[in-house]
Amino acid sequence: MHGRARSTERPDELHFGPFDRMLRASLVRPSTGAQWTGITTRIGERLLETGQVDAVLTMTADPADRWRPQPVIITRAEDMASARGMRMGYAPLLSLLEPAIARGHRRLAVIGIPCQVYALRALERELGLDALYVIGTPCSDNTTTERFHEFLALLADDPARITYLEFRADYHVELRFDDGRVREIPFLQLPLSRLPPDFFPLTCRTCVDYTNVLADITVGYMGGQGEQWLLVRNARGARLLELLGSEVRISEPGTAGKRTAHVKGFMTNVERAAGGLPLRRMPGWLRRVVGWLMPRIGPRGLEFARTRVDMKAVETVIHLRREQPRRLKSMVPPHVWRLVEPYGLTPGPDERQEPGP
Ligand SMILES: Cc1cc2nc3c(=O)[nH]c(=O)nc-3n(C[C@H](O)[C@H](O)[C@H](O)COP(=O)(O)OP(=O)(O)OC[C@H]3O[C@@H](n4cnc5c(N)ncnc54)[C@H](O)[C@@H]3O)c2cc1C
Repeated sequence: MHGRARSTERPDELHFGPFDRMLRASLVRPSTGAQWTGITTRIGERLLETGQVDAVLTMTADPADRWRPQPVIITRAEDMASARGMRMGYAPLLSLLEPAIARGHRRLAVIGIPCQVYALRALERELGLDALYVIGTPCSDNTTTERFHEFLALLADDPARITYLEFRADYHVELRFDDGRVREIPFLQLPLSRLPPDFFPLTCRTCVDYTNVLADITVGYMGGQGEQWLLVRNARGARLLELLGSEVRISEPGTAGKRTAHVKGFMTNVERAAGGLPLRRMPGWLRRVVGWLMPRIGPRGLEFARTRVDMKAVETVIHLRREQPRRLKSMVPPHVWRLVEPYGLTPGPDERQEPGP
């Protein structure tokens, strides 16, 4: 996709995959209803406005459940607003490729999470499209919409009124309600111990593509320190960013703090959880103190993003070793072993991928 693999010589590519530019960014006028400032859906809008694609394939919400993603083919720029926001769940985005092509849409944009983009790239050549733009978002973990509703019910007495949820990079979950209330819950105060151990399926717990490496542009928030975080991965991605012109404010991403101790602590908790969710054991008062300290002294900006990618890599190895040991060989690419090495995880003789032809 990018004409080259991730380079271990270029800073941060080991963690985030190939990129030409990495930026902190915000729309000058954030879009109403967007998850962050709406860069993702605005790029889709601009592609339609400027006639560069016939359709954008993305997710809207199920009319009966705002949290349930529903794949949609959007052909009018003004309809992109209906796709704004994050929904939790799986939905067959790529099942729209054939109907879109059948309707004569030969220049497409697809907005997707990494597992969708991975499959899209595998199919791309046989689709024979005239143009394809891929806008990816990072994805840490996903779960079924039903399971997500169980989580919401643990967070509030009136879960049906929650309209927005985000795991922010300042170690807080932000909740917004339909009556304008906003609540911020420190990660450490989340009721994780009350969730079933398989809340996130094994496929997500062992995913090695957090940052959507095969997208032309990745639009997230992890490395943005309160703003959005862009990885422009190739020339198509650069054209997508250009479409936003002066609507987007960009700056260099910052970085602060050190991740090693945090990832090590997380690793201990994952091992102790024996396949379930990694819970931090500490008394309530300490939980509050650490919850206050984390946004101030914990990893921030790019270091926060590296921390999360390292944690996912560590989880992948631990969960596969426990639940599907024969799969390590095919599911753990060499760069993931590099990421986990500093934490004392190294491949056994039957765990390493054979070098490709
Ligand atoms: C399950 C999940 C986990 C995520 N985890 C992270 C993370 O850990 N770190 C991070 O930086 N970003 C993560 N994101 C992406 C993040 O939530 C924002 O979508 C992203 O930062 C873009 O913000 P925006 O304001 O530009 O998006 P908007 O302009 O509001 O657009 C959001 C886009 O995401 C699409 N979308 C929403 N829900 C889904 C879904 N379930 N499946 C596929 N597409 C969907 C929408 O259709 C829309 O096109 C995750 C997204 C999902 C769906």
